[in-house]
Amino acid sequence: MHEMLILYDDVFKLHDDPTGAHMESPQRLTRVISALKATRLYTLADHCSPRLSPWTEERLCEIHSCEYVARIRELSEKGGGLVDPDTYANEYTFQAAIRYAEAVLDGANELAENKYRVVFVPGRPPGHHAGRYGVAMGAPTLGFCIFNVSALTAVHLARLSRPRKVLVIDFDLHHGNGTQEILYDNPDIIHLDLHQDPSTIYPGTGWPWQIGEGEAKGTKINILVPPGAGDDAYIALFDKALDLVLDIYGYPEYVVIDAGFDAYRDDGLGLLNLSTTTYYHIGMKLRQLGAKYLVVFEGGYLEGLERALPAFLAGLLGLQNPYSEDSTKSSNSIWSQALENFEETRKNVEKALRDQLPP
Ligand SMILES: [Zn+2]
Repeated sequence: MHEMLILYDDVFKLHDDPTGAHMESPQRLTRVISALKATRLYTLADHCSPRLSPWTEERLCEIHSCEYVARIRELSEKGGGLVDPDTYANEYTFQAAIRYAEAVLDGANELAENKYRVVFVPGRPPGHHAGRYGVAMGAPTLGFCIFNVSALTAVHLARLSRPRKVLVIDFDLHHGNGTQEILYDNPDIIHLDLHQDPSTIYPGTGWPWQIGEGEAKGTKINILVPPGAGDDAYIALFDKALDLVLDIYGYPEYVVIDAGFDAYRDDGLGLLNLSTTTYYHIGMKLRQLGAKYLVVFEGGYLEGLERALPAFLAGLLGLQNPYSEDSTKSSNSIWSQALENFEETRKNVEKALRDQLPP
């Protein structure tokens, strides 16, 4: 038995844009699987189809409204159509999205039973922009997402763990606004989200002052990365943010990783200048936590899937970076903006924790 399990099903590919022109396409998974096969990662994993479960739709109603889940099911049943101007559905969308949810819950149980240390689920449609009722935190669209599998996994694992021992880390280019909305008042789950400065990119949320509400204040941590940032500034922000989380909450038992690879410099969507150095570093740093890891697949469309994804998984498994690249540098102004952003987040989080202490 290997350290990593990959849970995959061809059903994930049935969700397809009727026009064939959408960038969030089944070919993304073809790229992922061939990228794994091009390295040792594929043979270093066990492979399985996720187990079927009759309860998945019910479980989804714990994080989404049942009306939203039913809306997706009904849209699929009548053959599909646009959910919004960015997000499509076809006749198989509900089936694929349910299968993805089944896969992450199955993977979480494998971790809980100590069968694996890492479970990777290369599934689709993606999820981190999907909020409780569909679009999240005032976003214009669902940004290609249907059901929020990372929030679903985190809520499931939080039941199997002690409070505040489940950490969700989202390093997709975009803010995981759906995940944040669903978990916003949940004090038991820590959510750390690094993303390009939301004033410059969809969905326009993920600010330093968005730190959770009620008893959950201080458990949601947004790290803004200035456009143009290279590996040096990104890695510094990542390390500082992770240290902040560890200082406050200690080491997690489970880490749910919202793994998007669209912040990679050649992936085509963002304004960050990240090489594989960043992704390998993230994997390595997370491995050092000694936790159990459920890796959920979010963005990444081109080169990010072929290079950044294998680099990240190699780091997480303690292997060499298969696509080592020269580290990219940030200008002085980007550095100072990055550090200023981080300080604002840190102060907000620490103030929230001080305010919660009894007098
Ligand atoms: Zn993204």
